Amino acid sequence: MKAYDIKCPVCGTVNHSLFLQETDGWMECENCGTESRVLTLRPLRVIPHYTTEQLSVIGRRIVANL
Ligand SMILES: [Zn+2]
Repeated sequence: MKAYDIKCPVCGTVNHSLFLQETDGWMECENCGTESRVLTLRPLRVIPHYTTEQLSVIGRRIVANL
């Protein structure tokens, strides 16, 4: 089951870890209570976390391709 972070279209509050597949895309904003439906479900963005060694390898590859 994927969890989603969805920004409320009315007040802009980000509602975290919503299980939209259970509710067929419907969410209720935790701040203003507005019910809205999210039409495009995208999984949470994965932000890569690199070590210093990995970054130096990536940097060398970029420099080598210049
Ligand atoms: Zn809201």
